[in-house]
Amino acid sequence: MDGPDAAWYNGITELKGGIFLFTDKRSRRLVLAAHCLLNQNAISDGTADYPGTHEEVARLLLEEGVGILQLPCPELCCLGLDRGDPLGASRPVTVENTRIRREMERPEAAARLDALVEQVLLQVREYHRHGFSILGIVGVNRSPCCGVETTSENGRETAGRGVFFQRLLDALAAEGLYLPAVGVKSGPQAAERVAELLRGRTPLEPDV
Ligand code: SF4
Repeated sequence: MDGPDAAWYNGITELKGGIFLFTDKRSRRLVLAAHCLLNQNAISDGTADYPGTHEEVARLLLEEGVGILQLPCPELCCLGLDRGDPLGASRPVTVENTRIRREMERPEAAARLDALVEQVLLQVREYHRHGFSILGIVGVNRSPCCGVETTSENGRETAGRGVFFQRLLDALAAEGLYLPAVGVKSGPQAAERVAELLRGRTPLEPDV
């Protein structure tokens, strides 16, 4: 469908001959969301705040008719469900997060991260070339991988991005895609931050 035989506007693809694609019920609006916002089973031991999904964020996106591109969980994909240490939950969260961050910065994990980023890029490129609205990306603050405004380093929650989100946002920017990003934690304020993102505004204060 690439090339002069197709045109795109408002998320609708028109092929040569007046054939239109994507005129069904889809909203053609989506956000990218950290995996555990939709699947708390993936989160590191001891840190799940919901049985299944981040309820406030999921409810908001459902009500808004926004599709959710669920990102892979980089820690699960690179380190496993127990993050390579079954005693992780016995440590303070930011201490364990710092250990996880170090593991994720090793060359083997970093190579896997690049492959995960590429999988996301493939999907984003498709939506983008068909003119869908990618409204932004929602991460998880304090996470060593998916933090947006804050991450974990040196045993503390610090300003900065997680290693996966940094790579992903850099890769998107390299293709000219500058997506607004917010980080959330558990609780109703998370939905307020995502609502701001949907309105095209990035909240000024981080969710810490
Ligand atoms: S914050 Fe990222 S790395 Fe951590 S559990 Fe969620 S998706 Fe996985």
